[in-house]
Amino acid sequence: MRNGAKRIEQAARRRNRVAVNALSALATMLLLAAGLCGCSGAGGARDRALQVACLSNLRQIGVLIEMYRAENNGETPPSLQALSKQADTPNVFACRASGHKPGAMTDIDTWTDYVYVAEPGDNQVRAYCRPGNHKDQGTAVLFTDCTVRWCTAAEFQTLMAPPAEGAPAE
Ligand SMILES: [Zn+2]
Repeated sequence: MRNGAKRIEQAARRRNRVAVNALSALATMLLLAAGLCGCSGAGGARDRALQVACLSNLRQIGVLIEMYRAENNGETPPSLQALSKQADTPNVFACRASGHKPGAMTDIDTWTDYVYVAEPGDNQVRAYCRPGNHKDQGTAVLFTDCTVRWCTAAEFQTLMAPPAEGAPAE
């Protein structure tokens, strides 16, 4: 009996300790966030967080593409809509920087913030966030080897530029 009471008391104390730890972690995070906002000027930290979230979406889309290929004899999905079977949430197809809410899984191509390239050219670009979603900060790009990269507006323009005149035609 006394043992049981002691065990309950110990469990309660452990629970309290966990709660206190969680609270202090939260307080630290809030302090850090406040510090970031204070140092980097208006919107800097928030913009950076949105860029990271966007890159993460594209990385996940890259994984979904590989899953699709594994399940379809190595074939590349014809559109983002084709990934609806592999994805368990529509969230990865909406960029938080655009302010759009994710739409339905049944018509991803009509609302997604990402442009899919079914047949990548020499630049190996597989998909990218629609330029403009991140204002003039550039955009996130997914390459055919599943790597993702943040490109400045100028870098993106160069990446997507058509071959220069005089280049050998195919
Ligand atoms: Zn984006």
